[in-house]
Formats: sequence, structure tokens, C-alpha cells
Amino acid sequence: MDEESLQESGWHIDTLAVRAGVHTTAEGEHSEPIYPTSSYRFKSAAEAAARFAGEPGNVYSRYTNPTVRAFEERLAALEGAEVGVATGSGMAACLAVFMGHLKAGDHVVASRAIFGTTVQMLSNILGRFGLETTFVDLTDPAAWRAAIRPNTRMLFLETPSNPMTEIGDLQALAEIAHGAGALLVVDNTFCTPALQRPLEWGADVVVQAATKYIDGQGRCLGGAALGRRELMEPVRGFLRTAGPSLSPFNAWVFLKGLETLSLRMERHCASAQTLAEWLEAQPQVTRVFYPGLASHPQHALARRQQKAAGGILSFDVKGGQPAAWVFMDALRICSISANLGDAKTIVTHAATTTHSRVSPEARAAAGITDGLVRISVGLEDVRDLQADIARGLAAAGAF
Ligand SMILES: *Cc1c(COP(=O)(O)O)cnc(C)c1O
Repeated sequence: MDEESLQESGWHIDTLAVRAGVHTTAEGEHSEPIYPTSSYRFKSAAEAAARFAGEPGNVYSRYTNPTVRAFEERLAALEGAEVGVATGSGMAACLAVFMGHLKAGDHVVASRAIFGTTVQMLSNILGRFGLETTFVDLTDPAAWRAAIRPNTRMLFLETPSNPMTEIGDLQALAEIAHGAGALLVVDNTFCTPALQRPLEWGADVVVQAATKYIDGQGRCLGGAALGRRELMEPVRGFLRTAGPSLSPFNAWVFLKGLETLSLRMERHCASAQTLAEWLEAQPQVTRVFYPGLASHPQHALARRQQKAAGGILSFDVKGGQPAAWVFMDALRICSISANLGDAKTIVTHAATTTHSRVSPEARAAAGITDGLVRISVGLEDVRDLQADIARGLAAAGAF
């Protein structure tokens, strides 16, 4: 369906997840086709010339591909965005947004608690090209306001944060960004549009690592940037030239993933809630971090901003790193891996893997202790997960 008819239809999000972005061909196929083609054939030399002169239509799959477009349209419908631009990975989506909207001499304010690779990209790569980034506490709007400079062009955050599940106040941060004439960009990977729609709270651009929950089964890398048409044009322009485009096969996997996203998120959230409440009562656990717990400092904000608390939780195992490792090694169902948003439950020891390049002082300041374990709660039966985690905690109980 094209955009106008979608808006006219006023369909709910679960209908859009199944029905948006459908362009049935003359074959009448019911499931969306995959178009594995790098280029397109023109009917005549004149048509080729017209396409190169800007007439709408396919030219080359670095620019447009029908399967990729279908995924872009469906995800845009879910995020409530005018336009979506798909990318070859989540990081490519971040890069395309930064390169499309920033230049040397610009300043970015970013949450300290964003994906480690995004910190590296802003500091070490874009820093070499004259971009400056100030990192602030996600949960302290006054710190964001204080960090604004005359050349601040963008505020960047993730909420909930990884691995501490802190919540950023999207509405407050959108007001600060717009007061400064800057864009608010939100990495919505942890929630997906099934749980949180940042554009409704005033964000200008959303980025997604489709690699995580949108795929949902740990198969493909991909991403997207979404927002108003005029904000997406420079992003697409960068992509066409720089090249980190999404493959049609991966786009198709994500397109099908979106159809079950909201159902899967419901189960991820319900199981995470059950496990978080149970973990809080375990003697080997000092603290549980999950926005769905009444003990979470921003429980009320999470309830207002998100439809449910998410599928990721973290907790502190008594006994520090040795105990955390014994816990992890004793698990038989949960996988030790660095991914998240998979049907398979994944445990990660942040201090020695995802956050090992962060200095011990910065880790301590962020609350990432040596005993902290992150769980991306999968779709297995929660009773089996609880028994598996209980086995791990019993093994770690000696510490
Ligand atoms: C994984 C992830 C990314 C990067 O996505 P890739 O597809 O691995 O490049 C960005 N942001 C968040 C929050 C992520 O979890």
C-alpha cells in the first residue's frame, strides 16, 4: 500500500506489521517476493537516460530494490515515520544519519550509555573528521541542557540503556534538542516500534539495528533510519554514494520478522518480567535491573513511554566476576553470546565482553560491576529458563 492509503486506512500497528509495504506483482503471490538483482533492465536507451536524469524507477540496487523498499515502507508505517531508509547493519544506519546531518565543527551530545561501537564511531572515527561529542548521563536532563553549545546539531540516545536498562525521558530531551535547534536521534533497537515509538514523543529520527528483535532469530545483519522526508533525503544520499546498502534477502527476512514482532515482544517482555521478579528474591543476586520492576528508579517513566518493559534485564551476581563466570558456565539452555533480541536466550558478561574496552572507572561510574550479567530473554518456556538460571545460581552460590 502506498502512504496515502495507509494514512486513510487508520489501521492499527499489528495490521500494518502484516499488511504495509505489500506490492503484489502480476503473479498474484501472497507472500512478498525477493528480488536478488544488482541492476535493472531499461526498455530503451531513452528510458535509461530518463532514469539517470531522475525519473522515478529502479536503476541499481545500491539505490533502490523492491524487497528493500517493502521493508522500508513497513517499518516506517510501524514507527509512524514518513520515510524509512534501510541499511546493511545497525551501525551503517547510525553512520548514515551522522554523515547525512553533521559536518566538521559540529557538536553532538550523546548518552554515555549507548552501544559501545556507537561511542567508538562518534569519538574515534568521526572525531578524526572534526566532529566533537560530549557524553552525558542519560537520566539527567539538566546535564543534557548544560552540554548544549552554539554548534550542537544533534542529541543521540538509546532507551532503555544497555546493560543497565536506564530510561531516557524522550519528551524532555526532544524539548531540549528543539530549543537548541538540534535533532533528537533515538536508537530504538531495544524496544522496536512494538513497544515504543520515539517519533510520537518528539524525536526527529529513529535508528534501528534490525539485526536484533526485527529479525528476532539471530540470522541477518541490517538496520534502518526513519523520520520525516526532508531528514531522510541526506541519509539516503549518503547511502547511495557510500554503499552500505541492505541485501534483498536480509530485507525479506526482516519484512517477515515484522509480521510476528509484536507477538514475539509480548512473550519476551512477559518472560523477562517473570524472571526479573523471581531473580529479585534470590539470595545469590544483589540487584536486578529491569524497568518493569517497581524497584527500578524510572519504573513510572518506563510505564508512560513504553508499552511494556522489554526483553532485556541485568543483575548482579554475589561474588563478582568469578561467580558470574561460574554462573554462566553452569547454564545448559541459555547461550553465552554477545547478541540480543534472539528467540534463544543469551547471557553476556558485560565487563569482560561488550564493555571490556571501557575503562574500569567508567564502568564503575555506569554501574557495570564485575558481577553484572545481562540476559536477553528468549522465547523458550519461562519455566525451563528459570530452572536453568537457578542451576547457574546454585553453582555460583559457593562464592
Ligand atoms: C546491535 C546494536 C547496534 C548495531 O547493530 P549492528 O547491526 O550490529 O551493526 C546499534 N545499536 C544497538 C542498541 C544495538 O544493540
